[in-house]
Amino acid sequence: MSASDTDAEPGTVYLVGSGPGDPDLLTVKAKRLLEAADVVLHDKLPGPEIIETLPEDRREDVGKRAGGERTPQSAINERLVELAREGNAVVRLKGGDSFVFGRGGEEAEYLAAHDVPFEVVPAVTSAIAAPAVAGIPVTHRDHASSVSFVTGHEDPTKAESAVDWDALAATGGTIVVLMGVGRLPDYTKALLEAGMAPETPVALVERGTWPGQQVATGTLETIVDARDEEGIDPPAVTVIGDVAGTRESVVGFLQNEYGTAADEDELEG
Ligand code: SAH
Repeated sequence: MSASDTDAEPGTVYLVGSGPGDPDLLTVKAKRLLEAADVVLHDKLPGPEIIETLPEDRREDVGKRAGGERTPQSAINERLVELAREGNAVVRLKGGDSFVFGRGGEEAEYLAAHDVPFEVVPAVTSAIAAPAVAGIPVTHRDHASSVSFVTGHEDPTKAESAVDWDALAATGGTIVVLMGVGRLPDYTKALLEAGMAPETPVALVERGTWPGQQVATGTLETIVDARDEEGIDPPAVTVIGDVAGTRESVVGFLQNEYGTAADEDELEG
């Protein structure tokens, strides 16, 4: 029996993805480790419903500092090593999957470099789940044979931008943008300039599976206005491609309900 079949091992760090936010979408393993861990380091992205279930004396919020500044990654890395060396079973809980824009890779490298044993616990990424619960499949035999997951965090006009929007436009597949609410005007423009059709369907899914989930739909040309009209804020994923248009044909029967505006008030209040 491996350590992972028993309780959480002392001195080990578990890099655990929480899934998109609905506690029912935690993996069985994530749930077991959250119950067994001596300490859980988390940020805000696992969502209010999952964070609420963690006992306050066994969790550390490393998402924010007193002054509103983000805890630097280096401080999180050091804290993980320190807690493990003290003999704790440590869960590092990230939203979605830790290895999809979650810095899990950096944490794994740091732990390995400091001789700390760790285990990776994969999870449901918001890149697939947020579109899914809005009725949008990221691939579809009639519409998209490939899907790209990209960060929208960068300025597409920067020469050294790590995302090649021209190349993405040429794939003809689905593009799912994470961290892309603020720069939506920049990359939709870049894709239009790269020759994508202005009527290409686009959907924004905010807080997928959280109370107060919101969806805005439009096209490459209209989605910025839709974002503003619907008041879409982070965290949200952007789905670009014909698959985004299929929501229309299923939404009337889609039973994934994650709360209303009333829930949203509760969340903020
Ligand atoms: N590791 C995460 C991604 C972290 S990057 C994962 O696999 O899901 C942060 C971005 O993830 C956010 O800006 C947003 O684009 C996306 N995101 C995370 N949770 C989300 C949710 N519940 N609904 C919509 N987008 C979400």
